[in-house]
Amino acid sequence: MLAGKGDTVSLLEREDRLGGCMFTDEITLPGYKHDVMAATFVLFLTSPAFAELGDDLSRHGLEFCHTPHPTAVLRRDGSRLVFSMDRKANAASFDAICQGDGIRYLADMGELESNAEFLFSVLGGEIRSAKGWRGFAKEAFRRSVKGLSAWAGNSLVPARGWLETTYSSELVQALWAPWVLHAGLTPESTFSGQMGKVIAFALEAAGAPVARGGAGSAVRAFKSLITERGGKIFTGADVESVRVKRGRATGVETVCGKEFNASKSVICSLAPGQLYGRLLKGHSFNEHAMASAFRHGRGNFQLHYALDAHPEWKADGLRKVALIHLADSIDSVSKSSNEAERGMLPETPTICVGQPHSLDASRCPEGKAVLWVQVPDAPRIIKGDSAGQIETEAMWTAETKEAFADRIEMLLSDHIKDFRGIALARRAYSPADLESLNVNLVGGDPYGGSCTVDQSLFWRPFSNSSEATTPVRKLFHIGSSTHPGPGLSGGSGYNLAKRLGA
Ligand SMILES: Cc1cc2nc3c(=O)[nH]c(=O)nc-3n(C[C@H](O)[C@H](O)[C@H](O)COP(=O)(O)OP(=O)(O)OC[C@H]3O[C@@H](n4cnc5c(N)ncnc54)[C@H](O)[C@@H]3O)c2cc1C
Repeated sequence: MLAGKGDTVSLLEREDRLGGCMFTDEITLPGYKHDVMAATFVLFLTSPAFAELGDDLSRHGLEFCHTPHPTAVLRRDGSRLVFSMDRKANAASFDAICQGDGIRYLADMGELESNAEFLFSVLGGEIRSAKGWRGFAKEAFRRSVKGLSAWAGNSLVPARGWLETTYSSELVQALWAPWVLHAGLTPESTFSGQMGKVIAFALEAAGAPVARGGAGSAVRAFKSLITERGGKIFTGADVESVRVKRGRATGVETVCGKEFNASKSVICSLAPGQLYGRLLKGHSFNEHAMASAFRHGRGNFQLHYALDAHPEWKADGLRKVALIHLADSIDSVSKSSNEAERGMLPETPTICVGQPHSLDASRCPEGKAVLWVQVPDAPRIIKGDSAGQIETEAMWTAETKEAFADRIEMLLSDHIKDFRGIALARRAYSPADLESLNVNLVGGDPYGGSCTVDQSLFWRPFSNSSEATTPVRKLFHIGSSTHPGPGLSGGSGYNLAKRLGA
């Protein structure tokens, strides 16, 4: 966007490949393309960044693949609930399980819709700017201060509170409980109820799209758009320090000693620990202490499969579902996230199974399949195994990783006919592996820092933060560690680009 407005832009990436968490590779067998990390673009499709850049990116080859069934939950007893992009159908299927749950779902979505403009401006916009404060004042006028305060209070309800007081069916509760993990929260986290509703709303509206050819094709499209607009891209350029003159950022220097001057601004998309502990080392700002106190969240574990055939689920209706959670209930999700939070390998991890081949046939040879399996609850530092079966050390070793992958595979085998027979190859990534692929994933935390409410919204990354600014003039901080937080929305970069005149 900055290059589009005529700025001279240089993009520096420390790895040899661009894209950070967007990365597609044949990591199992030739011809099987896996999104090693991020895969689902629902946040991008619903973002203002997509509204502005979508046509240009599509001109550069970005295309999305959809299915009418973005998600489902599958329980150990084989019961399942499939969610679609049709609200009436969803309400009917909830009611068929438990009369009244469908009507309550319609009420949830109706209420969210009536607050959508304000809610999404808080979740994604520049809330700490004058415009943001004007938005709050307008809402206080519209609803009264008491009404706004009541709305804010209701928004803080944890997912457990929302689900247990709204839905009688355990299956409906189990459909939404795992989704809050993808917002970096747990069913007991403050605000996770609101995030659960937002996710339901977004999945219904935009589905769970994947990029044709893999997330790497989004990176290629961005690269060629940036280059077309005159931006210069440097890979293998590990920035070691920000040059500061009289309190203002004037450029950066890489590990190899190469200097880049910046007459307008330096923009960093980093975890706070690296920004203050490395790039601004030697300076003394209050933010150094805040960066040390910044907390990272649970680790993430990825497991990828190349399959000889499409998985045949024992439960029906799952073949075309983009993302299936294997989870029993709010309690099972709560248990696995709590175990990971305490440094334990979960006894029964909550598993998210993506089936990109069912949306995008280009991911593998005809008739074959790839699975994208994510466990959002993995310990960063291991203290033990909740099941008492896997020998552990504090750090992830190759043996621990494969043993944990075996546990996941056993759960998959319970639900997919002859799973071991069709699994041609697998590749696991522990939280430590993820960090080695992308330094921003501290301890394998996929979300750039714990997303509890004290580190979100006005307070991300720090309680005194304001709109991407830092103690150094013209040095800006964006990325998942900053508001609006993680996910492929491009939100923080978009907000800053707008503020810089794009
Ligand atoms: C396994 C996994 C799965 C996920 N799945 C999804 C998903 O399906 N959908 C979704 O919406 N979100 C998903 N997420 C979250 C999402 O991918 C991230 O929140 C998002 O990509 C973060 O983007 P970012 O721009 O903040 O940083 P990053 O993607 O981390 O990019 C920052 C880049 O900066 C580079 N860098 C760091 N330090 C330096 C330095 N000193 N010098 C030069 N370069 C440097 C890094 O190498 C990296 O390439 C997932 C995350 C993970 C880890």
